[in-house]
This record gives sequence, structure tokens and C-alpha cells, in this order.
Amino acid sequence: MRSSKNVTALLEQGYGSFLNLLYPRRCPLCHRILKDSHALICPECAGDLRPIQGARCYKCGKPVSEEEEYCRDCKAAPGAFDQGRGIFLYDDRMKYSIMKYKYFGCREYSRFYGRALYLYGRDQLALWKPDVIVPVPLHWRKLRKRGFNQAELLAEELAKSAGIPVDVSLLKKSRATRSQKKLDAAGRKKNLKKAFQVVGNPSGMRILLIDDVYTTGSTMDVLAHALLEKGASHVFFLTVCIGSNR
Ligand SMILES: [Zn+2]
Ligand SMILES: [Zn+2]
Repeated sequence: MRSSKNVTALLEQGYGSFLNLLYPRRCPLCHRILKDSHALICPECAGDLRPIQGARCYKCGKPVSEEEEYCRDCKAAPGAFDQGRGIFLYDDRMKYSIMKYKYFGCREYSRFYGRALYLYGRDQLALWKPDVIVPVPLHWRKLRKRGFNQAELLAEELAKSAGIPVDVSLLKKSRATRSQKKLDAAGRKKNLKKAFQVVGNPSGMRILLIDDVYTTGSTMDVLAHALLEKGASHVFFLTVCIGSNR
């Protein structure tokens, strides 16, 4: 990881537009109106930004204690993906931010998240060398209701900085899945397996999956499995937030 100071300076810059005059943008972390219309977050939140640092699970990137190589989930059932990372811990502040982003019309937060994915994930991207960025798809019914796919906006923002193409036609969510919260790991996988389809040709490709949050990893596991089965050479993931086993 790079020096946090340089990165937060870059996050504070952003880019402005005349639309800011009509729709003042808000800080994605404290939700106050940004005084500097070019900034992606406010100076206070920039100073208090805590991307995950220190010991991480070698596979999924969840924080672990120094002596551990893998987290509890990856020890019990390692996902089909090669490796993945989340930038921020999915704590109360981030939960609230993501909720505003997805359900309360704060689409603009994708710019901060996408930039953070790039700035804090670029060392990892240099190692993984993905050919293509693929957002986790949303079922059409959910897409219609929400108006946008939160993962797709993140993928597009990341692509702008990383210079890697986005492919939104490789995966499809053909069946709506019920809430996963009450299901155990096996139930989640079963529920998801039939929901996603590989509709493009991932043959020989190094794929980077993008989503807003990684919790149990069932979605990433199921998607990686399906992509590898269809000939993808490697599957990685990057998410804005990641849960913790601790
Ligand atoms: Zn703020
Ligand atoms: Zn893990």
C-alpha cells in the first residue's frame, strides 16, 4: 500500500462540473455538502480515512492477526477465485455510506469509491494484470427498481483511472435471488449458482470482478467458479468494503 497521505490528497482533488452548482455534491462519508466542488470527500474525512492495512488473509484480503495466513472463511472453504482485496472495513460508517449510495440516490459516491479502488488497489492491479474489469451483475428487476447497477458504476470509475476495459456483457444474473442473510454458506451457494450465467467468452482471460461489498464471499466464489469453468485463466476481485471475521 502507498503512503496514505499522498492518496488522500488525490482523493480530495477530484473533478468539478457546472452541475455542482445545480446539485451540490456531498461527502460520501459524512454526507455534508462539499465546500470544494472539485473534491471527492471533505478534508475532515480525508484526514480520517482508514483503508485496511496490516495483516490480511492471503486469499480474500480480510484482516487477520499477524500469525494467520488465511481467514476463518478461506480456511474452511477457499473460494474459487485466485485472490481478492477490499479497500475499507465494512464498519458502521461504510455501511451507512454504501446504503446511501445504493438506496438513497447518492450515485455520485461512485466517483469517490472508484477512485479509492484505484488508488488503494493499484499495487494489487499491477500484480494481477487483469485484461478486463467485470462488475457483478444485477437482476433486471432490481436494476429497474434501483435505476443503476452499483457495481457497474464502480467498474467504470476504476476503468477510467486504471485504463482497463470494462465488460458488462460477460455475466448475467438471470434469476433474482432471495435475501442471502438467513442462509448458511451451502444454502447461499446453491441459491446463487443457478442465478448467474456466463454469457460471453472469458477464454484465456484474466478477470477482475468488482462489487461494492464482500462479506461471506459466496457471490465471488460462484462467479469465479463459473468463469474458470468457461475457460478464464484467472479471476480476482476488488471491492470497496470487506467484512471481518473478527
Ligand atoms: Zn466528510
Ligand atoms: Zn480469506
